[in-house]
Amino acid sequence: MHRSTITQARELLRQKKISAAQLTEAVFARIDQVEDKVQAFVHLTREQALRQARDADARIAAGEDAPLLGIPIALKDLICTAGSRTTCASKILDQFVSPYDATVVEKLRRAGAVIVGKTNMDEFAMGSSNENSYHHPTMNPWSLSRVPGGSSGGSSAAVAAHECMAALGSDTGGSIRQPASFCGVTGLKPTYGRVSRFGLVAFASSLDQIGTLTKTVADAAVLMNVIGGKDPRDSTAADVALPDFTQALRKDVGGMKLGVPKEYFIGGGIHPEVERAVQEGIRTLESLGMQTVEVSLPHLDYAVATYYVIACAEASTNLSRYDGVKYGYRADKSDTLAHMYENTREGFGDEVKRRIILGTFVLSSGYYDAYYLKGQKVRTLIKQDFENAFGRCDVIAAPVAPYPAFKLGEKLDDPLQMYLADVYTISANLAGIPAMSIPCGFAAAENLPVGLQLMGKHFDEAGLITVGHKFQQATDFHSQQPPL
Ligand code: GLN
Repeated sequence: MHRSTITQARELLRQKKISAAQLTEAVFARIDQVEDKVQAFVHLTREQALRQARDADARIAAGEDAPLLGIPIALKDLICTAGSRTTCASKILDQFVSPYDATVVEKLRRAGAVIVGKTNMDEFAMGSSNENSYHHPTMNPWSLSRVPGGSSGGSSAAVAAHECMAALGSDTGGSIRQPASFCGVTGLKPTYGRVSRFGLVAFASSLDQIGTLTKTVADAAVLMNVIGGKDPRDSTAADVALPDFTQALRKDVGGMKLGVPKEYFIGGGIHPEVERAVQEGIRTLESLGMQTVEVSLPHLDYAVATYYVIACAEASTNLSRYDGVKYGYRADKSDTLAHMYENTREGFGDEVKRRIILGTFVLSSGYYDAYYLKGQKVRTLIKQDFENAFGRCDVIAAPVAPYPAFKLGEKLDDPLQMYLADVYTISANLAGIPAMSIPCGFAAAENLPVGLQLMGKHFDEAGLITVGHKFQQATDFHSQQPPL
């Protein structure tokens, strides 16, 4: 039962072949079986989940048919949940319990979802390997000596290991797509503004977006129908009509144009096995009727630098709220108020401190124009690159990450190497467009999953869902199982 997709499980529940309580128990039995090895969760909410499942059974018995009724779902631990901790994998929020649910959590509950627990992540979503977690690392279900990617690595590992049916994550520079690629699952970062960020702990507010980690594109469509839409509590949640994304599953790709950006395949930074799998993925889409056109995104080279200026600047202001007064951890034994602030901020890990320092620097007078303002200008150029490219195509295909999952510890002492993990994903956040990672092959030697990235026009998640679903109907990479 735990191996089924949302779509399959909903069918079994509708036909009363299984109950929601049985399904949730099966998922927790799976967690008991593999969580020791994977360590995808920061904490589990077993009792609450079983209560929610029995509740779902009552609603099913009463004839209700909500889209996620009885479906076990996990949440990245930076999405606020009333009644259980939200730690952001940081010492500074280790005991923090939010007084309210995030809008997406309210929507999931209304749709009948069962929340199994909160997943591990890099502290405050800063990282690409989950090794920046205050709690513990998470292991890649495909190879336990390797990282699951990050920062939504707990969510992607939990889905890949069938410890939940789907999960929510967040993506500021690649944090849904890169771990989806490393763990062989489907990861969708919606358009900036498509999903409310109310109750998402902020990292870089102009880039952050909540999205989905699922076993299939079809499941992503079901989840997006539930979590998308405007929100009076988040002024950046756009007032744009929410289509029924499951309709997009029935559309054809014949005649659609697939843009292939030439800059993504030159420069030699891409692992040959990743390049091979991505090129084969593009050929598969051609064989399904898409017409490929070469496009150019000439400012790709500046994306990583631009991102680290803007994201760190925003992080430095967002994280100033953790002062020992308003939230979570407070250092004891401080003689003055200033010392109390200082000592409390020792609660941040090294990577978070590095970013606060960088961000404070690029915003400081004397450097603001040279870094922050320049970064904003380059961001506009990157956005224009995409506008030009989308004048010639409907969807863009690219790699997700330059390499498959790397070994735990391998890049830990080299932050710059770690930052380069996001070279192909960051541009979509800077431009605000939707992007998705779908499994497209395996790197031969160790059989590690490789993802294909699809990027779309603003608010055209439906286009990505159509293309991604057709791809999954024609291939079986997404249904391969990790050797757990
Ligand atoms: N790995 C990137 C970073 O460390 C992206 C993180 C994210 O998308 N949250 O900033």
